[in-house]
Amino acid sequence: MKEAFRYLQEELDQMKDNNTFRQLIPLESKQGSKVDIHGKNVIQLSSNNYLGLTDHPKLKQAAIEAVEKYGAGTGSVRTIAGTLSMHNQLEEKLADFKHTEASLVFQSGFTTNQGVLSAILSDQDVVISDELNHASIIDGIRLTKAGRKIYKHADMDSLEEALKASTGARTRLVVTDGVFSMDGDIAPLPEIVALAEKYDAMVMVDDAHASGVLGKNGRGTVNHFGLDGRVHIQVGTLSKAIGVLGGYVASTNTLRDYLIHKGRPFLFSTSHPPAVTAACLAALDVLLNEPELIEKLWDNRAFFKKGLEALGFDTGKSETPITPVVVGDEAKTHQLSDKLYEYGVFAQGIVFPTVPKGTGRIRTIVTAQHTQEELQQALNAFEKAGKALGII
Ligand SMILES: *Cc1c(COP(=O)(O)O)cnc(C)c1O
Repeated sequence: MKEAFRYLQEELDQMKDNNTFRQLIPLESKQGSKVDIHGKNVIQLSSNNYLGLTDHPKLKQAAIEAVEKYGAGTGSVRTIAGTLSMHNQLEEKLADFKHTEASLVFQSGFTTNQGVLSAILSDQDVVISDELNHASIIDGIRLTKAGRKIYKHADMDSLEEALKASTGARTRLVVTDGVFSMDGDIAPLPEIVALAEKYDAMVMVDDAHASGVLGKNGRGTVNHFGLDGRVHIQVGTLSKAIGVLGGYVASTNTLRDYLIHKGRPFLFSTSHPPAVTAACLAALDVLLNEPELIEKLWDNRAFFKKGLEALGFDTGKSETPITPVVVGDEAKTHQLSDKLYEYGVFAQGIVFPTVPKGTGRIRTIVTAQHTQEELQQALNAFEKAGKALGII
C-alpha cells in the first residue's frame, strides 16, 4: 500500500527539506479575536472573519432555528429537489444588496469562479486575467477552451495591449480580484471599466475580500467606486466577512438562468444546508443594520497599520484591512511567525510559491472584533519579535 504512494511521499520529503511542508493548525476554540492554539490563548490575526460574524448572535440563532425547522441537510442538488424557498430568498436579497437584477449562490467562492468561467466561455472567446488573480479564477480559466491573456498586475497599459491583441473574439472577458489577498491592494476598477467599455469587453470582478468590507454597507468594490451597473459580473463569497460558507454571482437574469442550466458545480453538487443559508440571510441583515461593524473594522485597520509603520515595518501597498508585514527571506518570515506565537499572536507566514520568491510576509487581517487593547498587545509582540530577529 505505502509503496504505491512513494512518488508523492518523495515530493513531501522534498518540501520538508525546503521548509515548505505545513501542518494544519487546529483551533481549540471558536474563531474570534483571540483563539486557543496548542493550549495557548493568542490574538488571532490570520482569519478572514472581518466583521466577527462567525460568532454573531443573530447568525447563530438563525442557523439553530433553521435546523429545527428544516433539518440538517437538503438531500439533493438544487435542480432536482434541493431548492428550498430560503435559497431563492437569499439570492433575491443578494441581488438587491448588489444592485443587480439577479444572483445565484454556489457552494463556495471557489466553485462560483469555476462554475461561471467554465460555463460562459468557449473557444470563440478570450479571457483577460490579472496575473495575481486568485487560484479559483486561474482554475476556472483552465476549464475553458477560451483564448487566454494574462496582464501585468493592475497594469493598464498591459491590459490595453491584451484588449488590442484580442479583437475578433465573440466575447472578451476581463477578470480581476476586487481586493488582492496577499497585498491588500484594490484593483483600479474605474480604469479597467473604462478600457473595457472602450474595447467593448465584459468585466468580471471577484470581490471575495471586498464583500462586507468596501462600499456602502460592504457592497464591494463596484459600489465603492460608484460603478454600479457598469460591471457585468460580480462574484462574492459568503465565507469571509459574511462569516458562513458559500459564493455567489450577481449579474443579470440571463446569466442566472444560463448558469442554472450550465453551471456545473450548481448542477452536480448538493445545495447548502438550511443552517448555512439562514445564517447568510441573517448576515445580510446585520450588514444593513449594523454599519458600525464596518466602521470599527476600518478604525482597527488604521490603528494597527499606523502602529506597524511607526515600528518600522514594511506594510507594502495595502489599502484594506489586509496588512502584510513584508519580511522578504522565507526562513526569516517563518521565524517571525514562530516568535509572534511565542509572544501571544497567531499570524501566519506566507512565502513562495503563494507569493513571489524573496517577498515572504506575515499577512495580517484585523477584524471588527479586536479591541484596541488586543491590537496594542499585538503591536508590542511585533516590536519584540521584529527586534529579536533584526527586522526592525
Ligand atoms: C477566498 C477567495 C475565494 C474563495 O472563496 P471561498 O468561499 O472560500 O471558496 C475566491 N476568490 C478570491 C479572490 C478569494 O480571496
